[in-house]
Amino acid sequence: MKVLLLSPHTDDLELGAGGTLVKLLGEKSHDICWIVFSQCEDAVPEGLPPDTLSKEFTSVASVLGIENYHIHNFPNMNFPKHRQEILSELDKIKREFEPQLVIVPSLNDSHQDHKTITEEAIRAFKKDASIIGYELPWNNLAFSPQLLVKLTEEQMEEKWRILSLYESQFMVQRNYFSKEFIFGWARMRGVQCNSKYAEAFEVIRGIVR
Ligand SMILES: [Zn+2]
Repeated sequence: MKVLLLSPHTDDLELGAGGTLVKLLGEKSHDICWIVFSQCEDAVPEGLPPDTLSKEFTSVASVLGIENYHIHNFPNMNFPKHRQEILSELDKIKREFEPQLVIVPSLNDSHQDHKTITEEAIRAFKKDASIIGYELPWNNLAFSPQLLVKLTEEQMEEKWRILSLYESQFMVQRNYFSKEFIFGWARMRGVQCNSKYAEAFEVIRGIVR
């Protein structure tokens, strides 16, 4: 399957769907393309180089063995003003890559950049690909877990290993960058599908070929 991963900012997809990505890679039968829309140069902790987050993302891609990725630099917090350019990028990737599954933030994500990516992805892919939305509980006012992806302990350890590469996010002490939280959240979704761990997705569009 051709899978397109959309990260508004570096680390979003790893947090919401990192275990699912590890699982897909383990199946060794998928073609993955990953797009990051902002390097968040203005959000890097003081004293670190502006490209810190983009370097951290590149380490994640390299550890996972993903070579087909693109990092854009749309201005953090201002994606709504760049809607049309974002749609053009998505249309371009649609023509070049022809994804069958597109993984985006939830439509119920309250962050303006995340919401913009999901809305433009729906415009671009609604007739051509299944679209699922990942959960980021600190941004979701509501979330409907329509699709649950079962994960093993090993897959969760790998998710944690790639999140650990975002050293700058530990420096700013984001409360969701904690092993206790990441595993507890996945455990909660696991209980809903008789699995040790799971990640949850909203089904925005499902197309069966
Ligand atoms: Zn984000």
